[in-house]
Amino acid sequence: MNEHYEFVNPPLPYAYDALEPFIDAKTMELHHNRHLQTYINNLNKTLKDYPEYQNLSLEKLIIYIDSLPSSIQTEVKNNAGGIYNHIFFFSNMTNSKMEIPSPLSDYINNYFGNFENFKDVFSNAAMSVFGSGYAWLVLNPFGQLQIITTANQDTPFPLNMCPLLNLDVWEHAYYLKHYNLRADYINDWFHVVNWQQVNTNLMNCLSYIS
Ligand code: MN
Repeated sequence: MNEHYEFVNPPLPYAYDALEPFIDAKTMELHHNRHLQTYINNLNKTLKDYPEYQNLSLEKLIIYIDSLPSSIQTEVKNNAGGIYNHIFFFSNMTNSKMEIPSPLSDYINNYFGNFENFKDVFSNAAMSVFGSGYAWLVLNPFGQLQIITTANQDTPFPLNMCPLLNLDVWEHAYYLKHYNLRADYINDWFHVVNWQQVNTNLMNCLSYIS
């Protein structure tokens, strides 16, 4: 993906049907090709007449949102967030079976006791999102694992949290296959998490705070 305007939709790191049977190909195609594409189109449209902000990355647009003209703040926040959150979500899934690498496995055991308990806490957080939003595993500024939720296309950056893993619980992420059964979707999604990528994210986050 481009570092800055004009943003483009990066291809998924796997085929649309790669996550079957847990996440269906049609959902992945619509999610990538329509939902994410729409956020990209809208952000580009919003920034078109503001060349002074066209060199800012997604992260900078999100972090420095208060410095932008108030007339475009809401559009930029929603669409830059929508792009960031979706690319991050897609990048943290895979069709490869994998063990949880270290140091991530040690962090999960230290903060949640064991993987099953982590899965319960994360799933409950994802179930608790009212309406549209995300559940996140993040590294907080003290270097601790934490599970948080965000509404709509909000990101963890304004909370000073470094993202490790997110789960999109907007209905468009699961309705075609799982209908209204978010719990089934969450359970299926755990089969396709790219723990190697999450481990890489952890190491990046640790390097920022050290
Ligand atoms: Mn989505």
